[in-house]
Amino acid sequence: MEPITVIGGGLAGTEAAWQIARAGLPVVLYEMRPQVASPAHHTAELAELVCSNSFGAKASDRATGLLHHELRALGSLIIATADRHQVPAGGALAVDRAQFSRELTETLEHHPLVTLRREELPRLPETGIVVLATGPLTSEALSADLQRFTGLDYLSFFDAASPIVVGESINREVAFLASRYDRGEAAYLNCPFTAEEYQRFWQALCEAEQAPLKDFERENAQFFEACLPVEELARRGVDTLRFGPLKPVGLRDPRTGERPYAVAQLRQEDRHGQLWNLVGFQTNLRWGEQQRVFRMIPGLEQAEFVRMGVMHRNTFLNAPKLLSASLQFRDRPTLLAAGQITGTEGYTAAAAGGWLAGTNAARLARGLAPLVLPPTTMAGALFHYISTAESKTFQPMPPNFGILPPLEQKVRQKALRYAAYRDRALKDLSTWATAMSLPLQPLELDGC
Ligand code: FAD
Repeated sequence: MEPITVIGGGLAGTEAAWQIARAGLPVVLYEMRPQVASPAHHTAELAELVCSNSFGAKASDRATGLLHHELRALGSLIIATADRHQVPAGGALAVDRAQFSRELTETLEHHPLVTLRREELPRLPETGIVVLATGPLTSEALSADLQRFTGLDYLSFFDAASPIVVGESINREVAFLASRYDRGEAAYLNCPFTAEEYQRFWQALCEAEQAPLKDFERENAQFFEACLPVEELARRGVDTLRFGPLKPVGLRDPRTGERPYAVAQLRQEDRHGQLWNLVGFQTNLRWGEQQRVFRMIPGLEQAEFVRMGVMHRNTFLNAPKLLSASLQFRDRPTLLAAGQITGTEGYTAAAAGGWLAGTNAARLARGLAPLVLPPTTMAGALFHYISTAESKTFQPMPPNFGILPPLEQKVRQKALRYAAYRDRALKDLSTWATAMSLPLQPLELDGC
C-alpha cells in the first residue's frame, strides 16, 4: 500500500503520523529540522514545545482540560506522553519538555510503519493521501506553494487579532445593541464612554506594558505596518482613538438619549452570539495588561476573555473557505490539514487536529467514511468553528466554552455551566464512539 504522507513533525504531525501507524498503515513523516531551521524551534526533536511547557488547565470543567480528557479517551499519543512527563504546575498540565519530545521522537523513529525523513518538503505532493501539519512557521517554499494551491487570499502570514470575550460576561445594562445610524440590523454591542472614563482608559492604555516582539517578528516588521496596535494609536494623541476605532458617530446611548463621548464596539463572532470581538483592538500588550486595561471599558468590567489580542507571525489557512469539519480540503478530500495552520490555537488543539486528520487519513486509505466529531465536544466544536466561521474576519481560535452550542437549559452559575458542558461533551463523545465502533479509553474524571 502507498504510504500516507505527513508534512511537519510538530505536535499535530507527530499525533497524525502515530494515529496512521496505529491503524496499521505505513506513513512517511517529513520534518525539515535540523536541516532547515525554524525561527522559533531550538532542537531537532519531534513535537518540540516552542514556548511554554504547559498544555493549559487540567480540570475537566476547563476548556483545555476537557479537551485533554477527550483526547485521552480517543487514545492521543501526545496527551498520553504529556501525562507521563508531567511536572508540578498548580492546576496545569505542564511537562518536562526535553523528556516529552525525546520520548515522542523515539516512539516514532522506532515504529516499523513510520519512515521519518529529515527534509523540507517545498511543495505539496500532487497525489496520494497527505496531511499538512507544518504549523505557524511553515517554511517559505511550502508557504508559496500553498498560496498557489489555495489562492492568494486564503493563506495568512500574520495574526493581528483583537481580544474575544464571552457574551454573558458583558454588562448589557451598559453596552447597547445598535448599528451606526441605525443602518441595517442592530449588529454591534456598543460600550459608551463619558469624557472622564475615556480619559482614564486612554491614560492606562498609553502606559500599559507591551509584550516584546520575537527577533523574527522584528525582522518582519512590514507585517505590522498595515495594522497598528490599539496602544500605538492611543500614543499618537488623546483623540486619535476617538476619531478611529472608538468613534461615537451615528450612535446614541439609550440610557441618556445622547451621543457618547467615545464608543468601543464588539462584533458577534459566532452563530449563537456567545463570543464577541473587540473591534479594532489588535494589540501587543501583555495578556495580564489587556485584561486590566480593557476591563476599564464601560460594560466590560467583568468581561471573561476567551482569546487575548495578538500580533505575531502565524501562517494559517482560511479554514472556513477551504476545510470541512473532517479537516479535509473541500476541493481535494485526500489532502487534510492539522494543527495551528488550520486556524486552531494552542498545543492541545494542535494535538486534537493531529488525531482527527491522522485518523481520517487512515480511514480514507481503507475506503471508510471520514469522521466528524460531535460539535458538543470541545474537539468537535473547534473543527466545526473553523470550518463554518465568517471567512472574511476569520482569526485563529483556542479551545473555549463559547464555541460549544448552548445548553438546552440555561445554567446561570459559571462553574455549574462549565461542568454541564463537560458532562454533555463526554456523554456525546461516548454515544458517538459507540455508533462509529471506535473504542474509547476509560476516563478518570477529577473530583466530579
Ligand atoms: P509546530 O509544532 O510548529 O510543527 C510544525 C512542524 O513542521 C515544525 O516542526 C516545522 O519544523 C515543520 N515544517 C514546517 N515547514 C515544513 C516543510 N516545508 N517541510 C517539512 N517540515 C516543515 N501554543 C501554546 O499552547 N503555548 C505556547 O506557549 C505557544 N507558544 C508559541 C510561540 C510561538 C513563537 C509560536 C509561533 C506559536 C506558539 N504557540 C503556543 C501556538 C501553537 O500551539 C504552537 O505553535 C504549536 O507548536 C502548533 O503545533 P503545530 O503542530 O501546528 O506546529
